[in-house]
Amino acid sequence: MSECIFCKMVNKEIPIDPVYEDDKVLAFKDINPKAPVHILIIPKKHISTLVDTEESDLETLGHIHYVANQIAREQGVAESGFRIVNNCNKDGGQEVFHLHFHLLGGKRLGSFW
Ligand code: AMP
Ligand code: ZN
Repeated sequence: MSECIFCKMVNKEIPIDPVYEDDKVLAFKDINPKAPVHILIIPKKHISTLVDTEESDLETLGHIHYVANQIAREQGVAESGFRIVNNCNKDGGQEVFHLHFHLLGGKRLGSFW
């Protein structure tokens, strides 16, 4: 059994309330939201970081972004705007090592630069 917390969610070993789910992708609310809308979109396949993706993951990576489009519309932030964030490895601030994309919106997000 996997020790990865997001794999446990995929495998329903931890109960979750999915915002979106299909055969490749799962999306759920972040437990510690940084914005009024803060949803994590993950591949069901365990991939540790963005730099561990392979060419065979291209379809899933594209699909995740299309799912983000649909979730943003459903959450009412498609027009007001939102941000997709991937924190990769130490300097990126990654804490959970199962690839995930943060969808953040519902407020004016600060600039990093
Ligand atoms: P990152 O720094 O990009 O690795 O972000 C990991 C994110 O996962 C953080 O925003 C956490 O709040 C979130 N997180 C950790 N555990 C859970 C959980 N059990 N359910 C929902 N979100 C979680
Ligand atoms: Zn995992």
